[in-house]
Amino acid sequence: MAEETIFSKIIRREIPADILYQDDLVTAFRDINARAPTHILIIPNHLIATTNDVKASDEKALGRMVTVAAKLAQEAGIAEDGYRIIMNCNKHGGQEVYHIHMHLLGGCSLGPMLS
Ligand code: 5GP
Repeated sequence: MAEETIFSKIIRREIPADILYQDDLVTAFRDINARAPTHILIIPNHLIATTNDVKASDEKALGRMVTVAAKLAQEAGIAEDGYRIIMNCNKHGGQEVYHIHMHLLGGCSLGPMLS
């Protein structure tokens, strides 16, 4: 059984976060350590530790994460120029918080992904 992270407290609004969107499936909030002018995290409301743990029953929430990312990109005015969506998995992927999250990054040129 995966252990709750700080993201569960953000979902329940037990600790402060700049929440931009929340519905029955997902929550989106600004990353506390922004790596781009727009840096938003989109997470499922239920705990999934890593992308290795995603099940077919999670597909609705994961689809919603992408829909919400696109909506927030439009609202942030970064959709036309473009943006990057990243999900890190485990140690080699650089995952720090074990509650899956989609990074939405944009507002500047991010350069090539792998260089
Ligand atoms: P990861 O490396 O796991 O893909 O990314 C975790 C992200 O969560 C990091 O970009 C980090 O800045 C962000 N983060 C960690 N703790 C908090 C927090 O308490 N509040 C917010 N808003 N972001 C956090």
